[in-house]
Amino acid sequence: MGQRHILHCDCNCFYASVEMQEHPELRGKSIAVCGDPEARHGIVLTASYPAKRMGVKTAMPIWEAKQHCRDLIVVPVSYGKYQKYSSYVREIFRDYTDQVESFGLDEAWLDITGSLGLFGNPVKIAKEISARIKRELGIAVSIGVSFNKITAKLGSDYKKPDAITVIEPDTYKQIVYPLPVGDLLYVGNATQRKLGSYGIRTIGQLAETNPEVLKGWFGVMGYTLSADPCCQTKCAYRHQERWQQRHHAARFDHR
Ligand SMILES: [Mg+2]
Repeated sequence: MGQRHILHCDCNCFYASVEMQEHPELRGKSIAVCGDPEARHGIVLTASYPAKRMGVKTAMPIWEAKQHCRDLIVVPVSYGKYQKYSSYVREIFRDYTDQVESFGLDEAWLDITGSLGLFGNPVKIAKEISARIKRELGIAVSIGVSFNKITAKLGSDYKKPDAITVIEPDTYKQIVYPLPVGDLLYVGNATQRKLGSYGIRTIGQLAETNPEVLKGWFGVMGYTLSADPCCQTKCAYRHQERWQQRHHAARFDHR
């Protein structure tokens, strides 16, 4: 089988971007979309970039966010709106491929392997999708262009907002190996801590560790961890569902 062409698209600051699209007076301001602002324990779900620059972070309590940013405009969360925009984004994706796998409201993988004849090379397709989402919905996206789901996701995380990162089979090591192991889809906090205690902090260090050594530390899971990220797709598919459930509550729209 030839090389596959996968895009991973991530809407940047999704909830905040939707709010700014619906309320133009909020554009360029420090805003935070928050869960239950009336409650004492309300927290930030998504902050706009001006708010982030002031130190406002996802999952921060509202009172703390306001200490970092005195002009912070708190907007209550309205999932119905975000679902509507999410479906608009998906409609744009479907103009380019029917192979779309959504991941939460604001991320998706697109397999465009069969679309190149019609729409041109992967970067051209990524640019077109990015431009349309910005023009039609007012939302900036970051896109990873690569040959499997994992490296595509690393690509969309690599540079934000409003960026396209290409990770090719022959150069992916230069980009992927220096990244922290925690960037891998299947390395959670506990695994990252344990790897760190053995001195393994980057994806490259993990890839270069003897699989038998990893099995000694992690059991059978060690084999999953040991392979190169580009060989990992199948394992990642298997772990993805569990990972998704585990992270759903905590992740929101963190960048
Ligand atoms: Mg996002």
